[in-house]
Parts: sequence; C-alpha cells; structure tokens
Amino acid sequence: MSSMIELAQRFKKQQSVYSRLPSMGQYYPTLHSPSREAVTLRFRGHDESQSFVNFASSNYLSINKRDEVKSAYLAAFDEFGSGANGSPVLSGYYAPHQKLEAALTRLHETEDTVLFSSGYCANLSLLAALLGEQDMLVFDEAIHGSIIDGGKLAHAKLRSFRHNDPDDLRQVLQRFRGQAELTIVATLGIFSMSGDIAPVPDLLRHSKEYGALFLLDEAHSVGVLGARGRGTLEHFGLAADSVDFCVGTLSKTLAGIGGYVTGKRDTTDFLRFAARAHVLSAAIPPTTAAGCAAAVNILEDEGAVLSARLRRNADVFRGRLREEGIRLLGDGTGVAAFSVPDFNKLWGATQFLFDRGVFLNPVLYPAVRNDEGRLRYYLNVAHTAEQLADAANATCEAVRKFGIDVDTPPTPKR
Ligand code: PMP
Repeated sequence: MSSMIELAQRFKKQQSVYSRLPSMGQYYPTLHSPSREAVTLRFRGHDESQSFVNFASSNYLSINKRDEVKSAYLAAFDEFGSGANGSPVLSGYYAPHQKLEAALTRLHETEDTVLFSSGYCANLSLLAALLGEQDMLVFDEAIHGSIIDGGKLAHAKLRSFRHNDPDDLRQVLQRFRGQAELTIVATLGIFSMSGDIAPVPDLLRHSKEYGALFLLDEAHSVGVLGARGRGTLEHFGLAADSVDFCVGTLSKTLAGIGGYVTGKRDTTDFLRFAARAHVLSAAIPPTTAAGCAAAVNILEDEGAVLSARLRRNADVFRGRLREEGIRLLGDGTGVAAFSVPDFNKLWGATQFLFDRGVFLNPVLYPAVRNDEGRLRYYLNVAHTAEQLADAANATCEAVRKFGIDVDTPPTPKR
C-alpha cells in the first residue's frame, strides 16, 4: 500500500497549485480574538500574535458578539449542556433546533426549514437525496464545490453553463433536453469569489421553460441583499416559492455553524428522512441553535439598517479601488474581488498587505480554477471609514509595487 506521503505527492501533482505554495505561511493562522472587522492572529512559525483589519471573515454583520446571542448561548448551555449527542431524527433535536427552524422559515417566508451540520452538508445531502444517475445537475461554472460534490455523490449527469449567463443556460438545457428524468439548475445568489449577483429572474425563467427545478444557495446573500437583508429573492422582488430549494448557512451572517434547506414542507418532510447527512450525523449543538436563532431575530429586527450599512461600506471600498482603475469582478454585495492570475504577484501582494496590517485570503484552487488567482475582500458592517481607506490605499500600493495588471478579467472557462 502507498505511504501517506506517496498519496499526498500524487495529489499534489494533480492539483499543481499546492506544489507552488512556498509554505503554508499564508494559510492556517491561529485566531486569538473574535473574527469581526478586526482580528488578532498568529501565523505559523511566528511567536507573536498581531492585530489586523480583517477582510477575511464572512461574518458580514458582526452579529457574533452581540449580547442577545451571548445570552442565548449561555441560557441554552444551562438548560441543555454542550452537545446534541444524537441525530436529529433520533435524540438530537432539541427545543432550540425547533426554534431556529421556525425563525429561518419566518426569515425566508417559506413553509419549513430543515437543519444540517453545515451548508456544505446541506447542498451535498439535498442533491444526493434528490438525484440519481438518470438525472442531471446543471450549474453555473463558478458554483460552490458542495453543489458539484452533491451531484457527484448522486451519480447525476453534470453540466455547467457560463458564469451568470442565462442564454448559455438556455442553450445547455436545450442541448440536453430529454436526456434526464429530473433536472436541477443550481446557482449562488452571490458568488463569494467574485462578489457578483446571479441574474436569478432570467435563470429561473429558462429553468421553468425546460421543466427544471431550481436550487438557490444563499450563503453570501442573507444579511447582505434585499431591503430587509433577507437575500437574493428579496433583492429581485421574487416570492419565496419561486425557487424550489433555498440553501443557507449559519456560518456567515448568522454567526454560528450549520446549514439549512428551506422551502416547501413536502421537500423538508422528505429530507428529514432521506438526506443522509441529516439522518446519519449528529445535530448541531443546542447552544449553537439557540445562538443562531437569536442572530436570526436580530436580522429580522435590524436587517434593513445593517445590510444597507454593509453595502455602503462595500461601495465605499470598491469605489476607491475603481478610482485606481482596478477592474472588480462584482458589485453591490459584501465581497470585493479582482483577478491576479500571476501566482507570485498574488503571493507577494498578500504578504505586503499583511505587513500593512490588512488580513485577507489569497484565493486559489479549488475555490477558483487551477490557473486563476484572486485578491478577495469580505466587507464588514463594522469597518470604519478609516479602516476602509487604509486598506484600499494599501491595496493600490500593492498593485503598483507588484505590477499587477488590474484590468484582467477572470479567465473564461470554455
Ligand atoms: N455555499 C457557499 C456559496 C459557500 O460559500 C459556502 C462556504 N464557503 C458553503 C455553501 C458551505 O457553507 P458552510 O461553511 O456552512 O459549510
């Protein structure tokens, strides 16, 4: 049998980006503070922790340290202890889980919600439960890996359409018409690696025309888009039941861990027994469920104000980069990103920004394609004007210093 090292080397050869990493130095830092608009962390091989302005957390609304969330966690710990210790189907579904599902159902104005231990598991298990080898998953080429993995686990036929291109979706649906019993079209409301918004109304129209079901992943949209911060459907003025499955995460705006599928009750009833990641894995801790329910309540009460403030911060930051001629990949969301395909420039610019007290993650495969790279900033509601200006100035300096071609569009896939 191959040793672990041989296996790892084979993997490295396949995914050449790993073999280019000079070290893990820019990844896997240890955090010594909450991750909000600022963060204290220690990089590998360093003895000291340092404080940074934080552009690496999708904790968009900084709800994670709010008093209401803290009280909910503490009260749930007193009442239920620390772990769920069981699958929700059997013995791991506590009162806070029920409360959280009800809160998410209210938030999305759907009929029911079912929880998973992560957003990854929600996508994976939803698709694996619904699709089989006679079926087809048609997804935006920049989709999150959990959706592709779900299609693979289902042994479904996998087809992609060009990023945010409804005409290409229509052509793909036309080309493969009649070749699947069931087709699901999947997209993200907001693309986390580019910060652009999916043209959901047009994608939906074509999906309906060809009899396909529609999955919308709202991981980066909840708390960010829409007049009340409720996501992409609100942004476009679409009713909750215009999509078949809406998937969300508790690990971003909602400040915890876990995922969910929200939609029609017949779907959630089915998933409660058919989604293997729900049935065969323990529920999230009741403390987390209680804390996330409190976070949903905050969003219900303050979503309009908080999401507008976040979008304003993002607009200010993006505006400053645009003034310098940087071609950003998206607009109107909590993510600002631009393409830096040259690995050494990406690596150098990231280190330069670290040295200037700006923490962000260089984006590489598998988050983008193997020959792509990006500088990606998550904006936060609590960033101050000064923090935004300093980070934007440092970015512009890095662009000049490393000769980054800021007019580079992302590499087209096909
Ligand atoms: N969907 C999207 C679009 C995501 O960005 C992520 C997280 N990166 C997930 C799903 C998975 O969410 P979780 O962290 O809850 O597993």
